[in-house]
Amino acid sequence: MQKVPDTRENMGRCICGGCPSYPGEGGFYCAKGKSDLPIRRRGCVCGDCENFRAYALQEGYYCIGGIAGETAQ
Ligand code: SF4
Ligand code: SF4
Repeated sequence: MQKVPDTRENMGRCICGGCPSYPGEGGFYCAKGKSDLPIRRRGCVCGDCENFRAYALQEGYYCIGGIAGETAQ
């Protein structure tokens, strides 16, 4: 697993906005860090994201767990 570079291009690939667990603001949590809003786990679509494949991510739910590769969930 690699860290996801916080670039405009990578941010543009983020599909959190279409996720059933999306808390309504923010996104790109794998690079930006977790959301401050309460989140119910209703599924995570990170596995369908180009960044997930490109950076060999594994967990998902970065809105809860924070930056990919930094925190255990
Ligand atoms: S892996 Fe998840 S949090 Fe990261 S850019 Fe893709 S959809 Fe957003
Ligand atoms: S990190 Fe995963 S669970 Fe959270 S909003 Fe993005 S796609 Fe949904």
